[in-house]
Amino acid sequence: MSMSSLRELSLLTKDRNELIDITVRVQKIIEESGIKEGIAHVFVPHTTAAVTINENADPTVQTDIISYLEKLIPENANFRHTEGNSDAHIKSSIVGAHVTLFVADGHIVLGTWQGIYFCEFDGPRSRRVIIKILPDT
Ligand code: ZN
Repeated sequence: MSMSSLRELSLLTKDRNELIDITVRVQKIIEESGIKEGIAHVFVPHTTAAVTINENADPTVQTDIISYLEKLIPENANFRHTEGNSDAHIKSSIVGAHVTLFVADGHIVLGTWQGIYFCEFDGPRSRRVIIKILPDT
C-alpha cells in the first residue's frame, strides 16, 4: 500500500474465539510511518471479528472476556442467519470494529496495563487490520 496512507497487518487466527495482542505490531507500524504526534485509527474490516483495548498483564482477563461472551451469546441459539456464525456477528458489533489511539513522541499512549487486542469470533481465519495514522497539523 505504498501510495496510500493506510497501513495493514495480516493475522492468522488459530481458534474460533481468540484475543491476540497486536500492540507491538501496531507500534511498529507507527514507528515505520515516522509520525511522532497524532492519531492512529485501528480498524478491523470483518463482520465476525473486532478490536479492543484491555489488560495485557494477566492473561486470564482475555480468557474471561472470551468465556463470558460465549456464555452471553451461545453459538447455537436458534439464530436465523444460516451461516452458523450469528454469535460471531453479534460479538463483533458489541466489541466494535475500531479503536482510536493517541500517538505521542512516536509511541502509542496506553495505560500501564493496557494492550490492543484483535478479537477473533469465527476462526480460524486469515484476517486483516487496517491502520491510518494522522499527524498533528
Ligand atoms: Zn455470517
